[in-house]
Order: sequence, then C-alpha cells, then structure tokens
Amino acid sequence: MKLCRFEHDGAIASGVVLGNTVAALHALLPEAPNDMQHIIAQWSSLEPLLAGRLSDAAASIPLSEVRLLAPISRPGKLLAIGLNYADHLEETGMEKPTQQLWFCKQATSVNGPFDPIELPAGTNSLDFEVELVAVIGKGGRNIPLERAQEAVFGYCVGNDVSEREAQLSSPQWMVGKSFDTHAPFGPWITTADEINDPHALNISTHVNNVVRQSSNTRHLIFNLWQQIEHLSRAMTLEPGDIIFTGTPAGVAMGETPPRYLEVGDAVRCTIDGLGAIENVVIRGSGEYHQGLAA
Ligand code: ZN
Repeated sequence: MKLCRFEHDGAIASGVVLGNTVAALHALLPEAPNDMQHIIAQWSSLEPLLAGRLSDAAASIPLSEVRLLAPISRPGKLLAIGLNYADHLEETGMEKPTQQLWFCKQATSVNGPFDPIELPAGTNSLDFEVELVAVIGKGGRNIPLERAQEAVFGYCVGNDVSEREAQLSSPQWMVGKSFDTHAPFGPWITTADEINDPHALNISTHVNNVVRQSSNTRHLIFNLWQQIEHLSRAMTLEPGDIIFTGTPAGVAMGETPPRYLEVGDAVRCTIDGLGAIENVVIRGSGEYHQGLAA
C-alpha cells in the first residue's frame, strides 16, 4: 500500500494512493487516526480493515488536485548515515569508516516532496544527496540483525540536502545537514511488503533533467539491517522514525569544480518502485522571523 499526507481544499489528511488518485483515510475508515505516526503504530489492526474498503472509489481525489506533504510531519528521529556508498566515499576523499558514521537532521528540516528547498542566505555550497529512506514501524531496542527487517514499516525517496560550508566547518555535521527545508522526502510511504529487496533498487538524481547520481542500493557499505541493529543498540526505534541510508557518488562536492545548486534548479530524486520527489531551489531570505507561537 502507498500512504501519504496531503492538502486538499485547505484541509490536511492522511491518505491512501490508488493509481492516480488519493483517498483520505478517514473517508475509507472513520475510526482510523489521522496522524501518520499513530497510523503506523496501529497498522497491524488497521490494514485488514482498510484492505476491505479500498474499492470505495467515491472517496478518491485525483492526485493532480492535491498537494502532497511529507508523509510524516515531525518524525521523532531523523537519523542519517554518512559515507555509506563506496563510490561516494571515493569522491569525498575521506577515509573509509570502520564504524557506521551517524548524524541527525533536525525535525524542522522536514519538507514536502514537491516543495521548494532553500539556498540559505549568504551561502553558495548547496548540495543534493538522493537516499533510500526507511520508515520505522514496530521498531524496538537491541534489534538483532536477522529480525531488523521486521522493524521497517516502509520506504520513501529522500534528499539529504546539505549546506557543505556549514557541514565541513565543524567535525559535527548536524548544523550543515539541518537547515529548514533540507529534508524533503516522499512522495508517499510504500509499505515494506511491496518492496521485494530494498538492497536492489536503482537510485538517481537529475538536476534540470541532467543525470547527476545513478547507482543501486546494492552498493550500500552498511546495509539497512546492519544500520537498524547498530542504532537500536543505543536507542529505541519508534514508529515513524526516519532513517536516511546514505547517498551514492555524483554529489556536487565530489566534482572539480563543484556544480552546486543554484536558484531555479529543479532537483529530481527517483528510486525504483518508490516514485520520485522534485524540489526547486529558492533563495532563503535570511530575515529575522519568529517561530510559530506555542
Ligand atoms: Zn546523506
């Protein structure tokens, strides 16, 4: 199944994608929660109920009439692994990690699959990183390698957008990876049962229709199951947590000279079976403004 969040007629809902249409979950199943993290947590009881109601075509809206949003608006964790494809490692000139190298992207960096990404004011080293994104379902703590697959709810396409100057000016990458708008993912969550093998998917980035990254998830250095085993030794993985699994070669930073993203560029990230996201670069204003009132 393909689950999304979308905006239609000024209202935000969770939905099921059916071909070129989307049906609001509450229209199909009024007792379902609206929040994606709760939907994921209750999925084993919701799925059988929902499966019987998917033929209710009256509930569906053409995808072209909705705005797709990030499938999870505020993940509890956005975990991302660095230097995890051999070809990407080579282009960065960095040492091959003997340990998994993890950083966080902040929840406020989450962005919709087709919303603009900001070139931050005063910077000029904006880069793209297509990544297979895993969404945690059951999760847990101390998950053994052979059971890691059970922890995953589904998959998305993500772009680990990176501001390289801020990233590389500190041994901790977190700030350079956490600018607002720099974690677009989607276009929806494809549930894990629809993906035979997450380590056999073609993965690519096009900027203005020119291919810049093209690889396959079989080239991951630490595969997703190893990532889940490693992370869950430290922390409880919870429904709706997000894992960015690493990017292949082709990022701007690896080029001489680097072709960093510019205002107006359209960045399209695609993964077999999961769809595509596309984000256009705009200039961030840099002006002071207050966050939302509590
Ligand atoms: Zn990355």
